[in-house]
Amino acid sequence: MAYLQNWDNAVHYSDIDDAKINADIAELRVEVEALEVETKTFADHLNAELPAWNDEIKAQLSAVFVRLDAISPRIHNLSVYVQSVATIDSGNVEAKKLISVMQGLGSNMGQAFAPVMVFLTRASDDFITSLYEQDFIAPYKFRIDYSRQHSDQLLSVNEENLISAMAQNGLQAWGNLYNELSSSLSGEVNGETYGLAKIFNMQFDEDRDTREQAWRATQGAWSGRAETAAYIVNSINGWRIEERKKRSTISEYHYLDEAVRDSRVSRKTLDAMMGAAYDRRDIGHRALAGMQKQLGVREMRPWDLTSPAPVSSNATYTYDEAIDLIAKCFSAFNPEMGAFVVMMAEKGWIDAEPTDTRRTGAYCTGFSEPREPRVFMTFEGTMTNVTTLAHELGHAWHNWVMRDMHKSLTQYPMTLAETASIFAENLVRDYLFTHAKDEDAKLVIGWNDAEMATAMLNNIPARFDFERSLVDARIKGFVPEPQLVALMGDAWGKWYDDSLAEYDPYFWATKLHFSISGMGFYNFPYLFGYLFSLGVYQQKDELGDRFNDLYTGLLRDTGSMTAEQVVMKHLSRDIEKPEFWHNSLDMVDKAIAQFENLPVKA
Ligand SMILES: [Zn+2]
Repeated sequence: MAYLQNWDNAVHYSDIDDAKINADIAELRVEVEALEVETKTFADHLNAELPAWNDEIKAQLSAVFVRLDAISPRIHNLSVYVQSVATIDSGNVEAKKLISVMQGLGSNMGQAFAPVMVFLTRASDDFITSLYEQDFIAPYKFRIDYSRQHSDQLLSVNEENLISAMAQNGLQAWGNLYNELSSSLSGEVNGETYGLAKIFNMQFDEDRDTREQAWRATQGAWSGRAETAAYIVNSINGWRIEERKKRSTISEYHYLDEAVRDSRVSRKTLDAMMGAAYDRRDIGHRALAGMQKQLGVREMRPWDLTSPAPVSSNATYTYDEAIDLIAKCFSAFNPEMGAFVVMMAEKGWIDAEPTDTRRTGAYCTGFSEPREPRVFMTFEGTMTNVTTLAHELGHAWHNWVMRDMHKSLTQYPMTLAETASIFAENLVRDYLFTHAKDEDAKLVIGWNDAEMATAMLNNIPARFDFERSLVDARIKGFVPEPQLVALMGDAWGKWYDDSLAEYDPYFWATKLHFSISGMGFYNFPYLFGYLFSLGVYQQKDELGDRFNDLYTGLLRDTGSMTAEQVVMKHLSRDIEKPEFWHNSLDMVDKAIAQFENLPVKA
């Protein structure tokens, strides 16, 4: 049967002009205003001595959380809907307008709720003990505890409100500008003009010349806008630096403290992981050398990093074949996970059809009511498309196994989010290798392992180091285009060394990651997820039948524990120790040795 290749979101709204959208917005505005009234009491309390626990305050808090639980999923739903329209139809003016309306509404809700979180962060231990006896607060305990542990960085209610109000047209606007540019820029490949989303896929073409042209077209499009791109990364980082300065009055708030805080890992864990990766970066270099040998080229260039495996029978997949293949791979691990993929495709929860108006990249999102995941990507039949689809479906599965839980307990950090996605990718590769029918099939999988190894052990750490140098430089002042180019070159040099004959000087502009307004250091969580997944994967064979439940349990705890706690609870391992990471790196080493031993095609 043919699966749907476009989102079916009709259960939410008929289209972007649906009158229900404006009606919902009007209702939500009233609700947010009511929340503002209810939370004002807490803002007032913060200006005086905090009250002790009593029946009146109990009733007030209960009212706030009940209302928050009612409106927050509705705001989220509507935001996901308008974003999904803009993703598919990047020129849709109405959708863009509504995105900004929803950002405003979300920001107002956040501002209204902020005094309550501040109040609970500053409340006495006795107060919190009494509060925790109430049922309505149960889903929020982890969030409150985590916030209380980081109370040093908290500003006054007015300052917190001012920051989130200003961010909408400041910090967030810079991120929006990047998205706007990325969907409007175009370039020329083989004499034809295409949007960057199409060109992005051409970077994975089997023809080396096409790949080079696609890479150069992307460089050209962005370097032509380098001034704007430089302003975007400078403004986003400038904003964050200023904000951290304001939050550093009690103790210094380092940018890496902020990065790991959002990722719910410790600095010790980050150091242990990055240190191990640096010690073993040669595994990535060996992967690149093996790729060079197989490609039969004199040296590796940036556009070779995205080359498909050089096989004569390079399999391409129809969308239906890809879905069935992924479902089969997932089923071999867990039949429910396989059935879930088929359901996603049958229900129109995946949008994958290549069109000119769509945005670049791939992501997983989801509605809150009913709890349904959605996957976006552009599927053109390559092996990389298949693994990307598996990756996003891994995210979707993670959301799905948590669908019965309170929304507040399902908000996991990036570090743990990438665990499920890369685990899902591994399942696909593992299955394909076991079922490889010939040398070509083996090479495709070995190639994938090599690509992954160099991406994770060279490229991701280079992004991390670049961002560190960017923040350090931005603290001193505006970082102009030539300096951004130089910093990127240094970072690539440190991690790639001479395994590449040329680096990627405009990577700071071409890569969306550096211009995401919502978070910085959108890089090390990938490495974490990759190595952590391998650590989990290893346990799959050791634990046998018990593993499946353990894995589901681990995923379900990702929204209510730190990464260290999750790993300790479910795997009894200490991720602050380098050994954990070296153990996973040994597995990568083995996979690359296997790749190196594959015969070179004539
Ligand atoms: Zn992901």
